[in-house]
Amino acid sequence: MRKSINELIEEIRKLKRELNAVILAHNYQPQEVQEIADFVGDSLELSIQAMSTDAKVILFAGVDFMAEQAKILNPEKIVLIPDKQARCHMANMLTVDQIRKFRERHPEVPLVLYVNSLAECKAYADYVCTSANAADVVKAIDAEVVALGPDANLAAYAEWRTGKRVLPVPECGHCYVHKLFRPDAVRELVDELRSRGENVVFIAHPECDMDVLKIADYVGSTSQMLKFVKNLPSNITVVYATEVDMGVRFRKERPDIKFVPANPWAYCIYMKQHTLEKIVRALREKRHVVELDHAVMKKAREAIIRTFELLGIVDKLPRR
Ligand code: SF4
Repeated sequence: MRKSINELIEEIRKLKRELNAVILAHNYQPQEVQEIADFVGDSLELSIQAMSTDAKVILFAGVDFMAEQAKILNPEKIVLIPDKQARCHMANMLTVDQIRKFRERHPEVPLVLYVNSLAECKAYADYVCTSANAADVVKAIDAEVVALGPDANLAAYAEWRTGKRVLPVPECGHCYVHKLFRPDAVRELVDELRSRGENVVFIAHPECDMDVLKIADYVGSTSQMLKFVKNLPSNITVVYATEVDMGVRFRKERPDIKFVPANPWAYCIYMKQHTLEKIVRALREKRHVVELDHAVMKKAREAIIRTFELLGIVDKLPRR
């Protein structure tokens, strides 16, 4: 017989206590998963949280590269992912072979990898950025030409923000969800809301195409968007261009504000693989343990720490 949501939540709480486990969930997770998580955030926040936790087991409700990142930062801990099919489409667009070929052609160009990349690729990176700090990382590197992958849109955004030349690796890496926004459709939606007398701001994630970013009132990662909406007056309508379930976080922070997705079909199927049932099974059976090669973890961790040092945030992190 299927268990009720309350029974599943109770079982998750019990298993968490028994295992000394913590649940980290990304902002794009379905509402019920966000609600049972100990911490909900974007990739950077979750990385810092993963490094700060004293729990023995980390259950990661996110996609493959995020669970790998938690393992890289906590090699001695057990990291579980409730469903192995939760694989980021963008992260899987970059291979070690592509990086090797790029390095052969441009041996002098520093390589920044977006956190949305696989651990085996991060092991070849000089730095690892998130959407919150990609422009800061590119700016801080002592070079006028920098490479960034796998998201070509994030590379273009960093180039726009810093004025440096940023080469995308590979040339067309992208997030299929953030490709679903079109400037004409956004303008039409905003105009319609304004014609009804609504006071509209349009915010967008840097994984969107540049022609969408150029018409946004604010561009930022999901955590930066949250900070932005926290400071808005209540008579505002926010149109947002990122994964549709970010609306769950927005409405929780600001229940007094109206939030409208710029595209209600901007839905990441990979992020929605996790369910309460799968979380119970993963904790009960210690299913889907993230395993990584030690040498890969060591090199990827060095690239992450190097980035924290470049940004001057390493002192805020616990040493292991
Ligand atoms: S929203 Fe895009 S970048 Fe994020 S996990 Fe889904 S496919 Fe990957």
